[in-house]
Amino acid sequence: MNKIYNIAIIGGGPGGIASAVESAILGIKEVILFEKGEGHSTTIRKFYKDKKRVDKDYKGQKVELNGNIYFCDGTKESTLDLFDKIIKENGLEVHFNTEVESIKKEGDLFTIQTTNNEITKAKFIVISIGKMGQPNKPTYPLPFSLKKVINFNANTTTDGEKILVVGGGNSAVEYACVLSQTNPITLNYRRTEFSRINETNQESLNACLTSQKVTPKFGIDIQKIEDENGKPKVYFTDGSEEVFDRIIYAIGGIAPIDFLKKCNLDLNEDGTPIVDDKHQSSVDGIYIAGDILFKNGGSIATALNHGFHSIQSIQEKLTRF
Ligand SMILES: Cc1cc2nc3c(=O)[nH]c(=O)nc-3n(C[C@H](O)[C@H](O)[C@H](O)COP(=O)(O)OP(=O)(O)OC[C@H]3O[C@@H](n4cnc5c(N)ncnc54)[C@H](O)[C@@H]3O)c2cc1C
Repeated sequence: MNKIYNIAIIGGGPGGIASAVESAILGIKEVILFEKGEGHSTTIRKFYKDKKRVDKDYKGQKVELNGNIYFCDGTKESTLDLFDKIIKENGLEVHFNTEVESIKKEGDLFTIQTTNNEITKAKFIVISIGKMGQPNKPTYPLPFSLKKVINFNANTTTDGEKILVVGGGNSAVEYACVLSQTNPITLNYRRTEFSRINETNQESLNACLTSQKVTPKFGIDIQKIEDENGKPKVYFTDGSEEVFDRIIYAIGGIAPIDFLKKCNLDLNEDGTPIVDDKHQSSVDGIYIAGDILFKNGGSIATALNHGFHSIQSIQEKLTRF
């Protein structure tokens, strides 16, 4: 039987690192952390200028640290060094370059699927993905006038619209197959083989192609898109052209709110996840830490505290699991 982790942590920023470190300090074994970047703390690495001053009480928010990580005023570099050190010292199992695509609850366990199609099972989840995630965009320009009908999720489709779905991963195939029940769908992927999708999606895709519910445009790319009377006209690299009502790109990356929706979490009106005082979401066993809990900005110290409190609550539940 495959290994079952006690806790899977999604996101290797301050909230995720704190969750992993506090787990290790409490002696919780079988904890795994997934981070889509090449190293931990992608937000700090990417968005802070070199030598930037880092304030513990960021923007005047006074935060008393409750956990075991001694974070204090410093610089971008000293903050990254602190996180490097505690990750190493606590012997954490961290998987970098690994983006979590979906989390599904099956019975008492969660199944975590990554974009490179690895499956992991865990009893508890901490989501700490921050707010900086963005869907990937194509390299050619997208006409601004088509903003409403060129999307990066399937939240705004209407039945009957002729839709082009672009992408070759699980999300693209899921969008295409689900929408094909109510809409004429073309699926465009620049390769001919779908090597990154799971078995269930491969079977659904085969069925949709056999029943001609999904029209394939595989092994070709898109050259450019123009606005034709408010609709996207697509020029493909095989010389063909076609007008659609809507285009949905699923070519990697995901907006944090779409990730939360995919996990079936209940959200507040402002798009933040609903949690109880222990940071548990509407799904029993999924905890939330860090910036993703705020409409506007949190801080490193707040994210560290969220990680600490989430793990305290999970530890209590693990003893009863
Ligand atoms: C320019 C700037 C300056 C700031 N200055 C300060 C300051 O001086 N002091 C302070 O306290 N705060 C500061 N902040 C805020 C602080 O950076 C955040 O509050 C903090 O980083 C939040 O931590 P987090 O773990 O919630 O999210 P993040 O730090 O955003 O970390 C989330 C991590 O999750 C990863 N991830 C996302 N999606 C997935 C996925 N699907 N699978 C796997 N991994 C995923 C990301 O790559 C990222 O590494 C600043 C923020 C910015 C943008």
